[in-house]
Amino acid sequence: MYLFDRASGRGSRTPSIKNYAERWPLRAASSFFAFGARRVHRFAPFLWFFNEDEGFRAISFFSSKRGRCSVKQEKAVVVFSGGQDSTTCLFWAMKRFAEVEAVTFNYGQRHKQELECAAAIAKELNIRHHILDMSLLNQLAPNALTRDDIAIEQKEGQLPTTFVDGRNLLFLTFAAVLAKQIGAKHIVTGVCETDFSGYPDCRDVFVKSLNVTLNLSMDYPFVIDTPLMWLNKAETWELADRLGAFDFVRERTLTCYNGVMADGCGQCPACLLRQKGLDEYLAVRRQGEIS
Ligand SMILES: [Zn+2]
Repeated sequence: MYLFDRASGRGSRTPSIKNYAERWPLRAASSFFAFGARRVHRFAPFLWFFNEDEGFRAISFFSSKRGRCSVKQEKAVVVFSGGQDSTTCLFWAMKRFAEVEAVTFNYGQRHKQELECAAAIAKELNIRHHILDMSLLNQLAPNALTRDDIAIEQKEGQLPTTFVDGRNLLFLTFAAVLAKQIGAKHIVTGVCETDFSGYPDCRDVFVKSLNVTLNLSMDYPFVIDTPLMWLNKAETWELADRLGAFDFVRERTLTCYNGVMADGCGQCPACLLRQKGLDEYLAVRRQGEIS
């Protein structure tokens, strides 16, 4: 049997359809037969699977020498802050990859709780956790995330004061250096273009550009995974729920700019965005339960 990932063009041998269906029962339930798939066997019969988290997958009835390792056998590093988004990414990665490690950056956050929260989650999920010192970021670009005397606000036509020049560029680059050191190819980040508040380094085009640069700079086949890129906050809650992590993410993460766990202070922009998404998702979920 041959497992083919249409999105990435990767594939690998997999033991049997039965095994596959046991691991992804929902996908198996929505499968159908199709014929022909480029890059594997042009006219081979396939059993197709679709899942919103991971896109199309197919099982071929023939093997192929072109197949490489399944992501299930690969290792990933998750850029992890202990917030809703990166914790959802951590659960996503744990489901998808054989081995997962997390990296958190200490850049002088206002609230020590953020680092403590990240460490506690990693410990509970039995994830190896790296905390890297990035205090130079605050030295270079003081901002509202690190300085009490800078208010969190957004003036018209400007980026919010929570934006830090170069933050994702540096974080992803350092995560890549770490990933190569520990033999991980995948770097998972919770950046999102849907609710991105205008942050230029949350855009898909930036991530793709950096991915190429990282590959060239270290001559290593990095893949930057962005499972939340096109999701709004309600859909991110939905993803956490599908991953069986809804309660965990809701109760154990810290998104609030004022350092309040779980549902937060209810006042800051991060809390308002998180709560709005949660309310929207819960309304949809209730609707689904009723019908
Ligand atoms: Zn808050």
